[in-house]
Amino acid sequence: MNRTDIIIVGAGPGGYETALLAAGRGKTVTIIESGHVGGTCLNEGCIPTKSLCRSAEIIREIGESGTFGVMADGCKVDFHAVMERKNAVVEQLRGGVEALLGHKLISLVRGRATFKSADTVSVDGVEYTSSDIIIATGSKAFVPDVPGTDDPDVITSRELLSMGSLPERLCIIGAGVIGLEFASVMSAFGVQVTVLESCREILPRFDQDISKRLKQCLSRSGIAIVNQAVVQAVERGADGLEVKYDLKGRTESVFADKVLVAVGRRADLQAMNFGDIGVRMTGKGIETDADMQTSVPHIYAIGDVVGGYMLAHEAVAQGKKALDHICGIRNDIDLSIMPAAVFTSPEAACVGLTEQQCKEQEIPYVCRKTFFRSNGKAVCMDQTDGLCKLLVSRDSQERILGCHLMGPHASDLIQEITALMSCGAPLHRLESIIHPHPTLSEVYL
Ligand code: NAD
Repeated sequence: MNRTDIIIVGAGPGGYETALLAAGRGKTVTIIESGHVGGTCLNEGCIPTKSLCRSAEIIREIGESGTFGVMADGCKVDFHAVMERKNAVVEQLRGGVEALLGHKLISLVRGRATFKSADTVSVDGVEYTSSDIIIATGSKAFVPDVPGTDDPDVITSRELLSMGSLPERLCIIGAGVIGLEFASVMSAFGVQVTVLESCREILPRFDQDISKRLKQCLSRSGIAIVNQAVVQAVERGADGLEVKYDLKGRTESVFADKVLVAVGRRADLQAMNFGDIGVRMTGKGIETDADMQTSVPHIYAIGDVVGGYMLAHEAVAQGKKALDHICGIRNDIDLSIMPAAVFTSPEAACVGLTEQQCKEQEIPYVCRKTFFRSNGKAVCMDQTDGLCKLLVSRDSQERILGCHLMGPHASDLIQEITALMSCGAPLHRLESIIHPHPTLSEVYL
């Protein structure tokens, strides 16, 4: 019988970080993975995409180099080299995770786990038992039931990240995080990009000030964005793929060589056979309580399989909650203070409540806006598009309710406000912190 203190199913960021933390606390861990360690984030999500974002950033900078007095004779993208670099980045980081999982208290089992009973899982006929099991099996791209989406040139982010060559024209369905990051990257690579979004705004979960301004910036950079577009069918014709959509009662079309479907991801509930062990589901994924316990108390679920924001750092925080509960350690992490970033050009980032949420929840607030165009460093960088929006409670406590950014390095800048919110610090604490000059961090002052 293979028995360890904890079984973790899934070696994505939630799974492997929790395994390392548990081993660091002296627990024996079996971690089971059917694919590559690192999960979606490392192999076909955050990391490869950010490698492409960096290539795109360099191309943009070379294109704009004349502004800085640098003579560059234009540039061409060697997409093969871009993808080789992306693969090397992924392999380097994957090697690092594999080495860490070589910890003497961790057994990495390769294969697909299914439940045999509430405390036992089976992998290729071999059984593993534990008093605590953490499910971290992630999510899969959702492809809506639209005619024609079975065409091989209708792809998800997974296939796009292993394309051998660039399409001339790319139609992206969905202006969420994935859709817009790829729109930004592919447009920088010279691809003609059209984004179709069913909602009135892009990034519907973001503060509307940010989504409106980001749409302006992306449109100015040459990306065509159509809101309130409901895709009806994809048809193959003489001019490639024709994506037909309804726009306020009219049928319109866009022609493309590839179509990227980026309309959300769904918890991967097929990954394990839950049978009759009693794990309850919500409409979005596995039901959990504040300690990430499922309806079966010694079975925990973390990350995308729970169906939250589907962010790697959320999965890691949830894994820590689950492990602390197993170990009987108090855990004060506030999962509602969850920073998020979109790696478009310019970047967008947020933490806490949006202005719309403050209104819906009838929370009295004050909104303070500052702009990158008055930030010395941003002017030197010639990246002045963007703003910072701080939402603060309209009372003597001046609680920071939320922060919304669009601008250079927004994904890094959001961390200062995340730290302050996590400490429950009021706005005047931010004002009493010395910010180095000239830096983008002065956008908060
Ligand atoms: P998403 O939920 O962010 O966006 C999906 C978009 O598609 C929404 O704007 C939605 O209105 C639109 N949409 C839905 N159905 C549509 C249809 N039929 N036609 C047109 N538009 C439609 O989903 P995503 O971008 O696929 O990302 C999936 C998950 O992965 C998200 O939870 C996201 O947070 C996470 N993720 C995060 C990052 C990051 O943190 N940088 C990067 C990638 C993915």
